[in-house]
Amino acid sequence: MQQYFTDRELKKDDIFELDQDSLYHLIKVLRKDSSYRFRVADCQGKIYFCHLINNYQCKVDEYCDENNELDTDITCIISLIKSDKLELCIQKTVELGVKRIVPFAARRSVVKFNDEKKLIRLKKIVKEAAEQSHRNIVPEVCNVAKLKDLEKYKSSSNYICYESEKNIVDIPASDSITYIIGPEGGFEDNEYEQICSMGFESVSLGNRILRAETAAIYMTSIIVGKCQ
Ligand code: SAM
Repeated sequence: MQQYFTDRELKKDDIFELDQDSLYHLIKVLRKDSSYRFRVADCQGKIYFCHLINNYQCKVDEYCDENNELDTDITCIISLIKSDKLELCIQKTVELGVKRIVPFAARRSVVKFNDEKKLIRLKKIVKEAAEQSHRNIVPEVCNVAKLKDLEKYKSSSNYICYESEKNIVDIPASDSITYIIGPEGGFEDNEYEQICSMGFESVSLGNRILRAETAAIYMTSIIVGKCQ
């Protein structure tokens, strides 16, 4: 069943307007009419079954008592990599349950990200992935972080995925977890040491060298497996 998000708070029998993109998708792309029931998640993370009453308004039928959020808040700090890979990484980690995405300008990130339009595009990808996976909330996409900013994205448990590490990842359950993935060329030694000194524990994802996007999806899956 199709899901959308609204910025407003909903209750049974409310009549409200979806945003233009969602309405377009529902009416023009899916060609649905008032007989179709869909889900809308409100600003409180509550989900309701709704239907269209005309070409721009919907009515709330009933509350859907469903929580698809993980007990663990996961923050993915992903180094800037080529945009198609970054978008894939973000889409998949959001489907898996990540709550916050922090693009990171690592020293070896060849991709520059100084364009507001790119951030808007990432937010759109996150919203669509959250709709697709029936999330209760739209995960946050933060502004591009530099090394000195990473401290503020720390959680109760913090990890840096490092391909030269011998210590295979083993994640105890935690209420919040942050992990960092390096760019295509990996972390510079000094950058890696500084991140470790901020309290990020270095972990290996195995002997094989993964692409950054594979590493992020795999790390998220490991956390979800432990903390679901
Ligand atoms: N330094 C490497 C190079 O240029 O050959 C590879 C970097 S890898 C493509 C990109 C990032 O994915 C790494 O910085 C790391 O965060 C993560 N990664 C890839 N394989 C990993 C592994 N086996 N264990 C831990 N992290 C890994």
